[in-house]
Amino acid sequence: MNKQNNKLIINGDVFVPLLSEEQIQKRVKELGEQISKDYKGKVPVFIGVLNGAFIFMSDLIKNIDIECEIDFFKLSSYGDSKISSGKVKLLKELNCDVNGRDIIIVEDIVDTGLSIKYIEELFSKHTPNSMRVVSLLVKPESLKYDVKIDYIGFKIPSQFVIGYGLDYQQKYRNLSSIYVLSE
Ligand code: 5GP
Repeated sequence: MNKQNNKLIINGDVFVPLLSEEQIQKRVKELGEQISKDYKGKVPVFIGVLNGAFIFMSDLIKNIDIECEIDFFKLSSYGDSKISSGKVKLLKELNCDVNGRDIIIVEDIVDTGLSIKYIEELFSKHTPNSMRVVSLLVKPESLKYDVKIDYIGFKIPSQFVIGYGLDYQQKYRNLSSIYVLSE
């Protein structure tokens, strides 16, 4: 990775800053406060979608001031490419019992909506009391499936982004801000 004037150059691709660490932290705090208010008196289970959502999940629950539980499952859709494969595989199952619980799915990014559709179908076999979705990022122009995202951090253009949990060929998840592939 080569850094030049705030730009990242990776394998000849140029990535430019999209969301700063400050912007992300401010918005995550607001989302945490809103969710804490909406779930007052309940004990929701936050279910993070690995790998991408691990940093967002960690920052989000630090901003939740009601009792809550967490779990993760793992999906794969992009593989090592910059374009969705159009297929989703379940790579790690949940460990907790979601029946009768208020569950909040925590996603890093919603692109076509395929992963959320897959998750909705997965949970249709269970009987949670309620299910909502929070996604840090949504690409509204890429949506191909009719999915409801209850809490959205930022709406972004339909371009490939990295950082804050989001990878490029499994790397760059450790960047604390988000960069977009410049066209
Ligand atoms: P969807 O199923 O909505 O098409 O895509 C959701 C998943 O694709 C995300 O959880 C993420 O793993 C991956 N994804 C979608 N857009 C991007 C992107 O711009 N950058 C990266 N790194 N991953 C993305």
